[in-house]
Amino acid sequence: MRSDGERSMRIIVQKFGGTSVSSPAHRDRAAERVVQAVHNGYSVVVVVSAMGRSGDPYATDTLLGIARDACPETTTRELDLMMSCGEIVSAVVFAGTLRATGVDALAMTGGQAGLVTDEGFSCARIIRMDVEPVRRQLEAGRVVVVAGFQGRSESGEVTTLGRGGSDTTACALGAALGAEIVEIYTDVEGVYTADPRLVPDARTIAVVGYDELAQMAHLGAKVIHPQAVEIAMAGAVPLRVRSTFSDGPGTLITGPTAEGRRWPDAGTTGGRVITAVTHLADVTLIRVGVPEGGDDLAVGVGAEDPELRVFETIAAAGISVDLINVSPTVKSFIVAANEALRAKACLEKAGCATELRPNCAKVSVVGSGMRGVPGVMAQVVRALRGVGAHILQTSDSHVTISCLIPMECLERAVRALHEQFGLSARMTTHGGGSA
Ligand code: ASP
Ligand code: MG
Repeated sequence: MRSDGERSMRIIVQKFGGTSVSSPAHRDRAAERVVQAVHNGYSVVVVVSAMGRSGDPYATDTLLGIARDACPETTTRELDLMMSCGEIVSAVVFAGTLRATGVDALAMTGGQAGLVTDEGFSCARIIRMDVEPVRRQLEAGRVVVVAGFQGRSESGEVTTLGRGGSDTTACALGAALGAEIVEIYTDVEGVYTADPRLVPDARTIAVVGYDELAQMAHLGAKVIHPQAVEIAMAGAVPLRVRSTFSDGPGTLITGPTAEGRRWPDAGTTGGRVITAVTHLADVTLIRVGVPEGGDDLAVGVGAEDPELRVFETIAAAGISVDLINVSPTVKSFIVAANEALRAKACLEKAGCATELRPNCAKVSVVGSGMRGVPGVMAQVVRALRGVGAHILQTSDSHVTISCLIPMECLERAVRALHEQFGLSARMTTHGGGSA
């Protein structure tokens, strides 16, 4: 039973990424955010990533390197144990930073904070949230600093949630605690209309739907972990992605009902068709052929169902496929570049004539405004043609169109799509003038 005081707690979850907690000066900036929230009357749960990037002493990649140097055969169970230390160190240090500013704070591991997962080491799934211990600390007036990216299994094993998993920790806690909002603090200004390293006039998006951001994350946008968005959506917790180091408003991520269907930065046509352009570099196209005149594959008996043979072979190898295209004569799909040779070897062993086209990239336009709007594909083709990017394959959903193109055209293609859909021109909060 909850007391009235408890029910009236206004909870906020603030997640700080690796750069935001990498140095004393950065931690002070992060701590200011927490202090501000406390002053605004919030009960605050902080989630931290490991401090810094590869090379920094307690960064995730550094810890992984140490474990692998000691023994390349280290089990995933032990790698999880090792990696979990990075976030634990970070949580202890950040709780200390907060106490030094006069805030009563306490650090917890992910397991202590109630993330109960399966035992899928290195990519564990959350099966249950047991947040009473966190709630009790909040009630006692403390800020709880949780080590991100980790949980515990029912039997007490330490697990990790997959790279970038601290976002998931934050969203899972936000949903389980009924937080008013989850803030993801990072070293960029928010969610961009395209990768600003490729598109200089990319700008931050003021408001984006959960579904759009989840698609963007799956299609290559690195700003947030896709699973985190899905958890926030399921729990109907609003998210905000913003910078630790500036006072920009960042990007609000919410469902259409919260803000209505009309986005604040919608164009004059009454709604934006495309919200962002995303890309995934370094994929390999695999084409599996069928011999002329027969809907069958090259070799072997029992080839009654060529499709089944191709896709079962790939499945048995544990390789994930994407951009799948099946015709009577050719079955094609893409795989991550580092899986391509293994995929080819397995397919050939199963008697399938296999051809690889390496050095491909997938560019996608994402926007819930494209539903039912004619001419979007025509604009995609026009933009890609204009920069000589030959389309090798496509796939689409209600809110996405993806094209596979040669890797060397990637930068031009992303810029052309960004321009074509007016994302460069319609600047609001950021970026210089477009040409
Ligand atoms: N430190 C973990 C990683 O590098 C998790 C995270 O930061 O979200 O993947
Ligand atoms: Mg991250």
